[in-house]
Amino acid sequence: MAHGAIVGINWGDEGKGRMVDLLTEQYDVVVRYQGGGNAGHTVVNDKGTFALHLLPSGIFRPEVINILGNGVAVDCENLLKEMQEVEQKGVPLEPSHFMISERASLVLPWHRDLDALEEARLADRKFGSTKQGIAPFYADKAAKKTIMAGELLYPEHLRNHVEQLVEWKNLTLTKVYGAPATTTEEVLSWLKQYAEPLKPYIRNTAKVLREADRAGKKILFEAQLGALRDLDLGIHPYTTSSNSLAAYAPVGSGFPAVHIKDVLGVVKAYSSCVGEGPFTCEWFGDQAEALRKAGNEYGAKTGRPRRVGPIDLVATRYGVDAQGATAIALTKLDVLSYLDEIPVVERYRIHGDETNEFPFPELLNDAEPVETILPGWKQDISGCRTWDDLPQAAKDYVLYLEKAIDCPIRYVSVGPEREAIILR
Ligand code: GDP
Repeated sequence: MAHGAIVGINWGDEGKGRMVDLLTEQYDVVVRYQGGGNAGHTVVNDKGTFALHLLPSGIFRPEVINILGNGVAVDCENLLKEMQEVEQKGVPLEPSHFMISERASLVLPWHRDLDALEEARLADRKFGSTKQGIAPFYADKAAKKTIMAGELLYPEHLRNHVEQLVEWKNLTLTKVYGAPATTTEEVLSWLKQYAEPLKPYIRNTAKVLREADRAGKKILFEAQLGALRDLDLGIHPYTTSSNSLAAYAPVGSGFPAVHIKDVLGVVKAYSSCVGEGPFTCEWFGDQAEALRKAGNEYGAKTGRPRRVGPIDLVATRYGVDAQGATAIALTKLDVLSYLDEIPVVERYRIHGDETNEFPFPELLNDAEPVETILPGWKQDISGCRTWDDLPQAAKDYVLYLEKAIDCPIRYVSVGPEREAIILR
């Protein structure tokens, strides 16, 4: 069967959550393959509005199997909270329908502490971490110093492993940062409180995926953040600490041989970015405030105002290539309805030369945007449901983007609701 992935093309927050929620109808399994609870998807459906951080967005459809793959950073404390919130709103979470890979590693309390300690040490040179412990977590994972979810099923082994990790981690906590030491008992009691309740959900999910594939079921791979935040190909060092690219989905989900045929890249009709780092298309002052308000651009996790600007065609083309996107979903087109004219960033000017190519990260600090101005449509398009319902200027805007990024725009969304979408 044709498996698919939904990935971000830009800096994240492109509206992937709503696309997964919409497209899960066509899939039997949804897998998260990287990242942790450090970003969020907002999903609006008939059950309410949900800010999902760790749960896969297919969770609202009980017939879909939802998996947190081995590449995910499982923050038990936040996951439990999120599971409770979702259940309270009437979405059941049964182990037959929600599963955690036995090979997914657990974010431990010291990861969050270390994130905060390091940002404090960096002071004004900080990276704008969400302080969810993601960078220290993935660093430890690469150093083979994390606890995998499956270890919870072997308590004797777990105690020994925790003991060794505590001895090692206390060196960093106390000698590097001068922070208080932790103890094995503290960590074990934290695991008892927050990780034990997750035990029924822990499975060999790689096997579940292979069996689903063999049975002809369709699998959807769901990314967190966008191409420009990818650890390897993003705007280093202002990236996340995992790989948000579709190419990583097979590994991060435990099914390395899977073939992903459809890679749907999600692009917002304008740009937004959370945290520090170069953001060439950025608007400031009243211009930014108006767009931020129109698009309600405040972080799903932190509530902090996002940086905003017009769509950046240089960065978007790069993201499309990096993701190997086969089609695009353009979201939030309705947000631009207030503008008389709509600027798009066509090229960058770097040291006097203009370029279409997304440059090496260091050069981004010197890049200035070169804009083209397109006409606005100045009317409410949130009720449009077909391509022909859209005013000509809105169609022209979409067609202009499509040509510039050289990838077919299959979906255009004009509102947060499930049905506020145009299929081309
Ligand atoms: P994600 O992490 O990529 O899913 O992005 P976000 O959680 O930031 O989602 C984007 C936000 O925009 C959410 O609040 C959505 O409900 C909302 N949204 C998604 N699509 C549209 C749209 O077409 N129009 C409007 N006005 N809002 C949208």
